[in-house]
Amino acid sequence: MEITHGVVANILTRSSGFLRTVCSHSLQPYRGCPLGSSLCGQGCYVRHSPWVTRGRAWGSFLEVRDQAAESYLATVARERAWARRARGSFAIFMASATEPFPAAERRFGVSRRVLEAMLEHPPDLLIVQTHSAEVLRQQDLLLRLRALCRLRVHLSIETDRERLPGLPPPASPVRARFAAAEELHRQGLEVVITVSPLLPIADPPAFFARIAGCASAVVLDHFIGGDGSPDGRRTRATPLPGAMAALEPESVKLAYRDRMAEVAARFLPGRVGISVDGFAGRYLGATGGTRYRDET
Ligand code: SF4
Repeated sequence: MEITHGVVANILTRSSGFLRTVCSHSLQPYRGCPLGSSLCGQGCYVRHSPWVTRGRAWGSFLEVRDQAAESYLATVARERAWARRARGSFAIFMASATEPFPAAERRFGVSRRVLEAMLEHPPDLLIVQTHSAEVLRQQDLLLRLRALCRLRVHLSIETDRERLPGLPPPASPVRARFAAAEELHRQGLEVVITVSPLLPIADPPAFFARIAGCASAVVLDHFIGGDGSPDGRRTRATPLPGAMAALEPESVKLAYRDRMAEVAARFLPGRVGISVDGFAGRYLGATGGTRYRDET
């Protein structure tokens, strides 16, 4: 892992593209992602961004943005005013192109200092998006932030399987992420489980029942429509679809997501989101002719 340190002038990036209806800003405490070599990195849309990778292998580099908190404090007043005027609210998604709580966060503390800065100047809405049980280390700050702004913790759990043959293991075990979700939920934080990308689930009723016990909602995001290409062609060029199909041939089709959404809705009625709508907190109705296939 190549670790470098970089300075970013404006840590608050005005959202565009698929994030535009989710938030007013995204915030990346790091550039690159140490989890890129693990399971989630296989289907990660960021690995296809030459602007981020600059030709380097995804998962092989990490740029530490040591001054992220200072940048936040220097720009928050201007960006909050712009967001409320142009987007209706100041909503931050942390993070869309990196893991905010990689193991390196224990050493560098960049995300933690950003959360501390938010205690001084909170956004209207904070969405913390993570693939790691390490988020539990920030529980104290998240509880304090919850009193100051709307806060959702999006914890990704893509499947109930700890391993998918032919693919690397997840950086954070499924059981550890469920335990983290359960603890955050027990503390009263709003937890959303993002099944992103959706991978073959061994026992869908048990999986969604467990999610219903520790989260306020679930989001299903298939690689088709979720990898930044219109038809999933980016992911089809990786080993991920082959490994998925070996376990569950139907899982590489969008119809699998629809079928899982129907199972999820039995356990979380009115609290199932699909792709970008789900990330934005827009959920399908509980009953009656819902159309799940929203991207085709
Ligand atoms: S944690 Fe997020 S940014 Fe990092 S590799 Fe996984 S999906 Fe990509």
